[in-house]
Amino acid sequence: MQKKTLLGVAAAVLIGLTGQALAQNPPAVTTRKVEGTDNVYIFRYGGHQSIFIVTKAGVIATDPISYLRPAKPYIDEIRKVTDKPIKYVIYSHHHYDHIAGGKPFKDAGATFVAHKNAVAKFKELKKQNSLHADVVMPDRAVGDKSTIKLGETTLELVWVGRNHSDNSLVMRLPKEKIAFTVDFAPIEAVQFRNMPDNASPLENIASLKKLASLDWERMIPGHPYAGGR
Ligand SMILES: [Zn+2]
Repeated sequence: MQKKTLLGVAAAVLIGLTGQALAQNPPAVTTRKVEGTDNVYIFRYGGHQSIFIVTKAGVIATDPISYLRPAKPYIDEIRKVTDKPIKYVIYSHHHYDHIAGGKPFKDAGATFVAHKNAVAKFKELKKQNSLHADVVMPDRAVGDKSTIKLGETTLELVWVGRNHSDNSLVMRLPKEKIAFTVDFAPIEAVQFRNMPDNASPLENIASLKKLASLDWERMIPGHPYAGGR
């Protein structure tokens, strides 16, 4: 019942947030400011989404989402909004379709942040020589609850347990009451195909309950919500 409530809340939120844009068959790259915020943007790149937050002291970006495609459109979209430096890239989890393409962000001076469990995954990929050249290792590993402060913005990073991966971070903006989650809390759906890091379904449900217990009103997912109106 708890799960049903969570998905219901999330669906209502997402219909309000993206329903109109999705109905118009948008192009591969779109960026829009989240309604009701001063500085939170959703960057959509084909079937993937990231958020970035523009502060007086620079930009907090999230997943580069540039697997087998250039990351330039993401940086170009940020540059359309601000010329402030990109200070951070926060990884939601270590899966390639979300982490690929970090290099130009690194070249621009960004610090890469991931949950501590992700570090072993990156090292494993490197050991197997299967870490693509454009993927950047995390510079900073965070624990189960941490905070990034930049300019006037506070971004909370919360690990809610093993789910779709063992290193998924919820990115929560306390002031805006927005949560950005990637892959582990699909909207009006259940877990996609498999549980890549061997989490049990019970652990997954527990992590959804933890997500639901956090103080947020709107959730932005790492893939555009396909349900629409
Ligand atoms: Zn994933």
